Amino acid sequence: MDQYQSETYSHKVDTKGIIVNVSDNWQSFAEENLGVSTCLPKNVIGTHLLDHIHDPETKHLYELIMHKVRKYRRNAMFSFRCDAPDKRRYLELTVIPLKDGSLEFKSQIIRTELREFVELMRSDIEKSEEYLKICSMCKKIAISETEWEEVEIAIEKMRLFELEVLPQFTHGLCQPCYSAAIAELDSLK
Ligand SMILES: [Zn+2]
Repeated sequence: MDQYQSETYSHKVDTKGIIVNVSDNWQSFAEENLGVSTCLPKNVIGTHLLDHIHDPETKHLYELIMHKVRKYRRNAMFSFRCDAPDKRRYLELTVIPLKDGSLEFKSQIIRTELREFVELMRSDIEKSEEYLKICSMCKKIAISETEWEEVEIAIEKMRLFELEVLPQFTHGLCQPCYSAAIAELDSLK
């Protein structure tokens, strides 16, 4: 049983995108989940939300989300994963427009699956200078320009188990996740 099962995490950004509030359970989740620091960064109050998103594709999507939710004043919902080496966590993000123009980001864990520990998902071990692209929303790995696979399958297909030092992750968005997010934003109109 995941101790975080069913918990809801939230943070609020002001009209400029600065993080002004995070829920109390947020930091402990970030600290106890090495390897998923991109899901929930630490020490964030007073910083810009977009400063915690390092790849241009995810950054662009978050800009669109903030813009459209403010413009249409309606909640938007997105599915994403926030995995740990031994768990797949399925979450739902709801972005809520507040009266003063700020936005609330609420994430809830809706399901957790245990899995065999995946060494590649650890962030506390030495990694090589090679990069693997991981989708920031579904956590699939790009095995070619167009194909994305679950991490366990990607390890087999790319024969990553043969490597002595594992590659690092760089983030992006797979086409299905990007399309689903855009469809959700288009439905707000
Ligand atoms: Zn994806």
